[in-house]
Amino acid sequence: MLGDTSDAVWGVMDIYPRTSFPDIRKKCVINSAAGNVLIIPREGDALVRFYIELPAGTKVSDVTLDNLQDHARRVFLPYAMDFAETAWWSAYSIGQRHADFFHKNHRVFLTGDACHTHSPKAGQGMNVSLQDGHNIGWKLGMVLRGQAKPSLLETYVTEREKTAVELIEFDRGFTKLFNSKYRAENGITPAHFAEQFVKAGRYTAGQAILYGGSDITELEEGDAELAKKVTVGMRFPSAQVVRFCDAKAMHLVKALPADGQWFIVVFAGDLAKPEAAERLAKVCFAAVFLALEIMLTWGIGCGCPSGDSGKLHTGWC
Ligand SMILES: Cc1cc2nc3c(=O)[nH]c(=O)nc-3n(C[C@H](O)[C@H](O)[C@H](O)COP(=O)(O)OP(=O)(O)OC[C@H]3O[C@@H](n4cnc5c(N)ncnc54)[C@H](O)[C@@H]3O)c2cc1C
Repeated sequence: MLGDTSDAVWGVMDIYPRTSFPDIRKKCVINSAAGNVLIIPREGDALVRFYIELPAGTKVSDVTLDNLQDHARRVFLPYAMDFAETAWWSAYSIGQRHADFFHKNHRVFLTGDACHTHSPKAGQGMNVSLQDGHNIGWKLGMVLRGQAKPSLLETYVTEREKTAVELIEFDRGFTKLFNSKYRAENGITPAHFAEQFVKAGRYTAGQAILYGGSDITELEEGDAELAKKVTVGMRFPSAQVVRFCDAKAMHLVKALPADGQWFIVVFAGDLAKPEAAERLAKVCFAAVFLALEIMLTWGIGCGCPSGDSGKLHTGWC
């Protein structure tokens, strides 16, 4: 693994609080002279998770639940903080590392914590790990069904390795912001801190990730002009839309389930206008021909249950 295990030791506990602190049901950070606590309201409207940075020099093996609770009480002052019950707690030192390889001959692939770890502050670990799993999952599915060449799997490595490295860089910077000495020395304002918190949220939602050019994200000249607000290599943006077939209001992303299918989204304009309808018809024809061309060029089939994945099928087979 490349990177380091820092000296920073953090405690975490899931607790049922008794407190006068008004924002206990909001995700927030308290920075006080006694230290800092990251508050994550848990499911069920009662349980709350605290992440607590412990003083420099603390050893993980020495940490007790009493230490954590005392520390949290001091950070919350002048608000009262008591613990009706602690459902779970732990302590750990922070490692910010990524694996020096994400694959072996593009036949064995690492995903999740096995190839990257970072601090819990931005709440990224599971999110990024799920994104890794989804990325390799749909590609393996296509290769195994004969719908794509095995070289598609190489894009898993280029895309996710870059993401892991960027995330660890972001995490290193983000972690420093929690340190009051660092903030004072570098003139970090609460506004800057809040801005980075929002950025962390964009990472969590996969909206801060931009994949470089590859067989599946390469643009040709002029392509970017066709949909100026869609960045190729980034997550497709969502918006509130009304579905034409049933007039149902929905978020666009809901109509595009991530289940291995491919979607062509056409921003056709007002279909009541003949010129818009005609344009859409042209796009539909072009899309069918494009699909046929791709299948012929790549020598791939439609992956239908007939099992003849090397052949071209009609779409109804
Ligand atoms: C206290 C804490 C709080 C966290 N909070 C958040 C959060 O708020 N948001 C977030 O996104 N992430 C969070 N994370 C990180 C998140 O839990 C991990 O990033 C995520 O679980 C990684 O998933 P994974 O599948 O890669 O690994 P794991 O969840 O570790 O799964 C690996 C599995 O492999 C099994 N295994 C290991 N070795 C073997 C073997 N030899 N044979 C068979 N099985 C084996 C293990 O038992 C385990 O079940 C947190 C982590 C911790 C510790």
